[in-house]
Amino acid sequence: MEPAPKINFNNTQIAFSGKSNKELKWEYWLFKLMNNPGRTKFFTSAANLSIKLHLPVKWMIKNTVYEQFCGGETLEETIPVLNKLEKFSIGAIIDYGVEGKENEEEFERTKNELINILQFAKGKKNIPFISCKVTGLTRFVLLEKINGDVVLSEDEEKEKQKLYERLRQVTQVATDANVGLFVDAEESWIQDAIDEIVFILSREFNKEKVVVFHTAQMYRHDRLAFCSKCLNDAKQHNYVCGIKLVRGAYMEKERKRAAEKNYASPIQPDKESTDKDYDAAIDFCLDNLEKISFCVATHNEKSNLHAATEMDKKYIPHNHPHISFSQLYGMSDQITYNLAKAGYNVSKYLPYGPVKDVIPYLIRRANENTSVSGQMSRELLLIDKEMKRRKV
Ligand SMILES: Cc1cc2nc3c(=O)[nH]c(=O)nc-3n(C[C@H](O)[C@H](O)[C@H](O)COP(=O)(O)OP(=O)(O)OC[C@H]3O[C@@H](n4cnc5c(N)ncnc54)[C@H](O)[C@@H]3O)c2cc1C
Repeated sequence: MEPAPKINFNNTQIAFSGKSNKELKWEYWLFKLMNNPGRTKFFTSAANLSIKLHLPVKWMIKNTVYEQFCGGETLEETIPVLNKLEKFSIGAIIDYGVEGKENEEEFERTKNELINILQFAKGKKNIPFISCKVTGLTRFVLLEKINGDVVLSEDEEKEKQKLYERLRQVTQVATDANVGLFVDAEESWIQDAIDEIVFILSREFNKEKVVVFHTAQMYRHDRLAFCSKCLNDAKQHNYVCGIKLVRGAYMEKERKRAAEKNYASPIQPDKESTDKDYDAAIDFCLDNLEKISFCVATHNEKSNLHAATEMDKKYIPHNHPHISFSQLYGMSDQITYNLAKAGYNVSKYLPYGPVKDVIPYLIRRANENTSVSGQMSRELLLIDKEMKRRKV
């Protein structure tokens, strides 16, 4: 029989212990606003257009969704958020949230910003990891070519070497700063190229401690096999591999492209299969903890509970250095705060950057929190429950 879980994600008192009544009411208003799909669609299109037309909407965005989901426009601006999380034993995975850049100057700027974050994080226990996107460091089309084994021109070969050099520099600084580097997973048609770079970096940098982490998107039906591949590579080359487990953020795009180009979709047939593989990946990592360090990066309560319960069953300490949990800043506090209270290693994924550059990220968050069925979203239900408990 399964032991009774020691953790309860319905405890809204712990979940919202970091929020005053005023903050709670504000959050209720914001999630209520996002709950309506028509309204969310209107506001996200209007925000996109206004930014493009340079209309003065920055103030409005900054004081609403930006405030909820981002740490600040600069690294320094994230400090109050970091301090507040630290008070509740919650760390941060800092992410430079700027997306969709396309030239060498911008790639260098992103690399320098990553190095800057690592230097900022050095010696701060509450910033155990930072995250990076390979598409922030090179052109998407180049990754597509590398992925497809296309013969590169001389210039493209140089670009590829520059990308490798940038990532080596960043990983070296991460090693010196004793901070982990999560490499995000992206579209499947560039993912082999990303995985290959992470294998190369892991073999070089993960010998003494785990610095660099793959991301496995379990909505792909081949990712359990990929986790085995990571383990075998670690055994063969004598290092400990890092894996961040996610479900995956590009499902519709993946399915659409597969249908258009007439190839078999890499995505699982249904949500149940994704959920099954996600939890199986947790089990796989727990069974190979000597050789794998992993992060349960999900808002799914069942998966978080599964990991926490299995750890207890196996007598694995909650603060085991090879296991961490993470949720996005501004979402699923009932998971983060309750895990932290129970002594697990848990962090919020905290993006920062200029308002206009993080709009795509904010739009994804707004869409995620809208209700398709007309019911209250999970976040809204929990806030509502806590407001009733506090009688505010
Ligand atoms: C800390 C952190 C880091 C992240 N990093 C990345 C990253 O590097 N790359 C990335 O792609 N995403 C990343 N994500 C986002 C993640 O992949 C999910 O999109 C998001 O977290 C929602 O999934 P869930 O596990 O939280 O919750 P759930 O709500 O339980 O699951 C929703 C997810 O299930 C899957 N799904 C939904 N319907 C179906 C269906 N019909 N068939 C098959 N699968 C389905 C989709 O992946 C969907 O996003 C990250 C998330 C977190 C919290």
